[in-house]
Amino acid sequence: MPRQITDTIFVHCSATKPSMDIDAKEIDRWHRERGFLKIGYHFVIKRDGTKETGRDLMEAGAHVKGHNHKSIGLCLIGGVSESDVNVPDNNFTKEQWLTLKNLLNDLIEQFPGVVVKGHNEVSSKACPSFDVQAWLLKEGIIKTKQVTTPEEKQYLEEKREQFRGEQLELFGGRKDK
Ligand SMILES: [Zn+2]
Repeated sequence: MPRQITDTIFVHCSATKPSMDIDAKEIDRWHRERGFLKIGYHFVIKRDGTKETGRDLMEAGAHVKGHNHKSIGLCLIGGVSESDVNVPDNNFTKEQWLTLKNLLNDLIEQFPGVVVKGHNEVSSKACPSFDVQAWLLKEGIIKTKQVTTPEEKQYLEEKREQFRGEQLELFGGRKDK
């Protein structure tokens, strides 16, 4: 059934070691093993920054108890210590941070008024192993405000352009090697 409301974007992590280079297909397999229809997230961001699609964007997800009918779920691969899977660790790559920024900016534009939260803001879990609100503030990501004036639109466009440039630098550079 398509989702009627989208009021929140939840950021998750896969709670896997940084050396585990897994993808949406692997998570899909895990979630099916747990009895889900398919992968519970709408997007997965791999260690190399690749954005992968999970569930259809307008489909209800399976990632936060009580919020699945009105939210989008993103999952960053990683998030626990290499030496101990029980220790949360903010170990995401700079490619992942850039992809996350781009993706959030796109989604915020697509769903005006949506707010971004970490899974740990609505549950006692450590997921996604970092303070999402502090990060949003630091990155200047517009969270709740609807873009209405030409100045705001231009600001957002400039920000997006800047992110695209940074991403091109990172990903473009690596592909040449
Ligand atoms: Zn989570």
